[in-house]
Amino acid sequence: MKSRRREFLFQTGAWTGAAITLSLAERLHAAGGGRHSRRNSMEGRIGKGLKEEFPRIFVPVDADLGDPAEVESLFKKLEQEPVRTAAEMESWLLKWGELQDVVSEEEAIRYIRMTCQTDDPQREKAFLHFVEKVSPRIKPCRHRLVEKTLACPGVADLQKERYLVLLRDLRNEVEIFRDENVPLETEEDKLSQRYQKLTGAMTVNFDGKERTLQEMAKYLELPDREVRRSAWETIGARRLRDRTQLDAIFDQMLALRGRMAKNAGFDNYRDYALRLRGRFDYGVPECEAFHRAVEEAVVPLYRELQERRRGRMQLDRLRPYDLRTDPFGRPPLKPFTKVEELVDGCGRIFSKLDPVLGERFRFLVDHDLMDLSSRKGKAPGAYSHSLGTFRLPFIFANSVGLDYDVNTLLHECGHSFHTMECRREPLSFYRHAPTEFAEVASMGMEVLGFDYMDVFYGPEDLARSREQYLEGIVGLFCWIATVDAFQHWIYTHPGQTPAERSAAWVDLRRRFGGIEDWSGYEENRRSEWHRQLHIFEAPFYYIEYGIAQLGALQVWQRADRNQAEALAAYRQALALGGSRTLPELFSAAGLVFAFDRATVEPLVRHVKDVLDRDAATQGK
Ligand SMILES: [Zn+2]
Repeated sequence: MKSRRREFLFQTGAWTGAAITLSLAERLHAAGGGRHSRRNSMEGRIGKGLKEEFPRIFVPVDADLGDPAEVESLFKKLEQEPVRTAAEMESWLLKWGELQDVVSEEEAIRYIRMTCQTDDPQREKAFLHFVEKVSPRIKPCRHRLVEKTLACPGVADLQKERYLVLLRDLRNEVEIFRDENVPLETEEDKLSQRYQKLTGAMTVNFDGKERTLQEMAKYLELPDREVRRSAWETIGARRLRDRTQLDAIFDQMLALRGRMAKNAGFDNYRDYALRLRGRFDYGVPECEAFHRAVEEAVVPLYRELQERRRGRMQLDRLRPYDLRTDPFGRPPLKPFTKVEELVDGCGRIFSKLDPVLGERFRFLVDHDLMDLSSRKGKAPGAYSHSLGTFRLPFIFANSVGLDYDVNTLLHECGHSFHTMECRREPLSFYRHAPTEFAEVASMGMEVLGFDYMDVFYGPEDLARSREQYLEGIVGLFCWIATVDAFQHWIYTHPGQTPAERSAAWVDLRRRFGGIEDWSGYEENRRSEWHRQLHIFEAPFYYIEYGIAQLGALQVWQRADRNQAEALAAYRQALALGGSRTLPELFSAAGLVFAFDRATVEPLVRHVKDVLDRDAATQGK
C-alpha cells in the first residue's frame, strides 16, 4: 500500500532537457527544470556517482522525451520495423523494453523531483506535462505493439517457458480489449474523480480549527476517551452527510462496469475484472477459500485480541473509537530521533539478516538513492520507485521518529531489494513482479526485521512494537476478506438497491468483524465501506495484499527455522522478477501459493505464539 507507484507494470515517461550521457544525479537535476540546474542542496544529494551500466540499443541518448511527437515517433519506428522470426522478435522485444525503461524512468524522475519539493511549481509543471501530454500519446502506440507481437509468425517459435508469462499477459490484454469500452473507461475515470473530489473535500471543525479527515486520525490514538469519542463522531457525521451522493456515484459505476463486462463477452463484471487484473493463477473458488480461512482461522484470534484490549483498557465494552489507542495509555514509541539513526539501525538489521542485503542497503545509502526525512514542502507518504534504465530504486519517506517509520523503511527496502535483485533480467517486462509477490518482498522484510528490532528498542518496547504490528496484520486480514467478499457480492447481485448493498456490508462485518459495540452508530456502519477507495476506484484490487501477507508470514516462519536458507530463497525468488507465474515465484522462495485454511492456520498459530510471548514480556 505504501508503495503504490511500483504497481504499474507499464509506466511511461518524458524528458525535456536534451542530455548526452548524463549521470543519474544530473538527470535528477535536469528533468523538466532545465539542464544541470542546481537550485538547492537537495538536488546535489540524489543518485551520487552513478553511470548507466546497461548500454542503449535503440533509444538515442539525446532523445527529447518531453516531446510527445518524438516519443510517438520512437514507438512508430518499432511498429514499422520488420519482425518475422523468433530471433528477430527477441531482439525487437529488448528494444521495446528499453523504450519502456527510458520513458518510465523519465516519469519516475519527474515524480521524485515533484514529491521531494511540492512547493516548486516548475517541478509540478514538468510532471503534469508528462502525465497530460506524453502519457496519453503512448497508450495507443503501446497497444499497437502488443498487437504486432501477437500477429508475428515468429511468436510460435519463441521458447515456451521463457515467454509464457509475457505472451499470456499480452494475449489477455488483446482478447478483452473492446473499442466500445474506451469511452466507458473514460466515464469511469470521471466518476472516480468525483469520488476523490467529494471525499478529498471532507473537512470538519475540531479542536478549534478546520481539519481534514486524515488529520483527524491522530485524535483516535489519544488516551483521552472523551476526545476520541468526539473526534470519531465528528468524522462519522461528516461522512454521512455525503452518503446519498456517494451511493449515487457508485450506482453509476456499477451500471458502467456491467456494460463493459457485457461488451467483452462476460456474464458479470466480477469475472471480467478478474481477467482484467490478469488473475490466471487463482480465481473465484480460491478467493472464497481465503474468505473462509480468514473466518475460521483469523477472526477468532482477532476477537480474542480485542477482548484482551478491552480488559487492558478496563472497559465494559469496546466502542469503535477504542481500537487505535495504546491500551495502557502509554506515549508513542520513540525508536530514533535523527534519520541517521534510522538508517544506521536498518543497515545493521539488514546485515544481520543477510550480508548481501546489508551491502545492497549500503549501496543505496552511498549513492544517495533515498530521501527519508520529513520536511516542509515534501509530499506525504512513502514509496520505492524504480529507475528504468539504471535498474535501481529510489526510496522516498517522511520519517519523523515513530515506530511506523521503521516498518515503512523496511517495507520500501524490500521493494528496493526486489528492483536490485532482478536488474540482470534483460527483458524489461520481467523486471516487475505482480503485486501478490511484489508485496511479499516488502512485507516479508517488515516481519523479518522484527527479530532484530533490538537495534532500536529494549525488550519491553520491542515486544510492544511487534505486538502492535502483528495485531495490525490480524485486523488487516479480516478487513481484506470483508472488502473482497463484499465486492464478490456486489457484482453478482444485479439490480441491488443501496439499502440492500449496505445490508450485505453489515452482514459481512458481522462475519469478519470484531467485538466492538456499534449500538447508536448503525447508520455509520451501514455506509462504512464508502471510505475504502478501492471499492470505488480499483475494484477487486485488494486481496493481493492478503495473499502477499500470507507469503510474508511464511518467509518469517521459514527464517525462524533456518534464516540463511530462507533469505537465500527469498533473494533467489526476487531475482526472478515477474518472469514466472505466481505459484512459481512463491515456490522459488520456498513458499506455498495457497490461501485455504490449511495454509492460513499454522501461520496464525505462529503469530499467536509470538503475541503471547510479547504480552508476557510487557508484563501485562
Ligand atoms: Zn508495498
